[in-house]
Amino acid sequence: MYKCLDCQHELTQKDIEKRIICPYCSSRIVAKSRPSQPKLVKAR
Ligand SMILES: [Zn+2]
Repeated sequence: MYKCLDCQHELTQKDIEKRIICPYCSSRIVAKSRPSQPKLVKAR
């Protein structure tokens, strides 16, 4: 699971399968939702 850092929506991997972009707010900043040490995934 991934989480948009902008609108806090949870995204499935299918949502960002082709593009790392939030379908809700079009933000390109999405984080993997893991309890410990969240990794930022920034797309240009
Ligand atoms: Zn978003």
